[in-house]
Amino acid sequence: MSKLSLRGLSKTYGGDFQAVRRLDLDVESGEFLSLLGPSGCGKTTTLQMVAGFVPPTAGTIVLEGQDMTYVAPEKRDMGIVFQSYALFPHMTVSQNVGFGLEMRKIKGAQLRDRIEEALAMVRLSGLEGRYPRELSGGQRQRVAIARVLAIRPRVMLLDEPMSNLDAKLRSEMHVELRALQRRLGITTILVTHDQLEAMTMSDRIAVMSNGGIAELGSPQDVYDAPVSEFAFRFLGQTNVITGKISSRNDRTASVSVGPISFPADIGRDHVGADVKLFVRPERLRIGAVDECNVKGRVMTRLFLGGVWFYEIDSDIGQLRVTTPNQGTVQPMEGEIVGIRWNDGDLQVIAPEVAHD
Ligand code: ATP
Repeated sequence: MSKLSLRGLSKTYGGDFQAVRRLDLDVESGEFLSLLGPSGCGKTTTLQMVAGFVPPTAGTIVLEGQDMTYVAPEKRDMGIVFQSYALFPHMTVSQNVGFGLEMRKIKGAQLRDRIEEALAMVRLSGLEGRYPRELSGGQRQRVAIARVLAIRPRVMLLDEPMSNLDAKLRSEMHVELRALQRRLGITTILVTHDQLEAMTMSDRIAVMSNGGIAELGSPQDVYDAPVSEFAFRFLGQTNVITGKISSRNDRTASVSVGPISFPADIGRDHVGADVKLFVRPERLRIGAVDECNVKGRVMTRLFLGGVWFYEIDSDIGQLRVTTPNQGTVQPMEGEIVGIRWNDGDLQVIAPEVAHD
């Protein structure tokens, strides 16, 4: 049995706007799962339904075998960390962390111990008497997490909790929060539109689009082998090559784009069919013109630190290529270069799941 099961979960606002559409999702015990997607795709609405703040229009929410769909939020044993942290400004760190415990009638030494334990988990011991205004952004966020951990929830829900932090602190918090979540084994759902955040922290990512799940899998699966065009474009960068199948045998077809043709792994499509091929910029390599798949002229060359980024006007359209900073050819703008790839690097998305 999964820790948390969502079945056919839907939310319609104003009678006809479907923010979440028949969503099915199982979250396993101890798992860190991210709901990742662009603004407005229904991530927060889904999380709010799980937390109990938004009633679903249809569907069920089952926690450890118990139907929670219409149970009040405070009776769900879930803890939520909001984007704004929602700390009480007139309460000290200790009082903020203890608030949920007092609501649950925990008092005296037990209350003090639980507050101490939660603050130690997020490395804030010693700051018990401070007020939120006397803390840095990262410390405030950790108080918000401690407040949730103190109640020992069955599921921790995180709604973009890192978005107010600067880039460096955010990446430190990714590592810290992930380590804490692993150590405690607490089942966690994170809502984010930040793909790097989802990739660094999650066991699995559900990529959402238009109120549904377009893709579900480990970060590596959804990045390396997405089954939807939406996920290919939303996670990282991709080149899209549009061509036609000009001939084929069992698995391999020859794809032509204008006067150029090259082999690609294409399962079912027949000769004459239009195909879209996707390839990540880091899968393309720059080399000599006489041993390449296609050639092109370098239009843009940017140094991004660890990698070089190129835009190349090639025989099959504009291609974006990234190459490591060390040990690679680094052509100048205007140079004619060859571009190579390995068989299998060009991926085809079946037309029935290819959508924008
Ligand atoms: P963001 O990343 O911007 O927070 P999101 O993916 O979390 O976006 P939701 O907040 O779940 O998206 O909103 C999904 C859709 O539902 C949006 O089009 C939003 O405008 C709409 N919506 C959300 N709450 C309400 C509401 N209370 N009444 C009407 N429409 C709403």
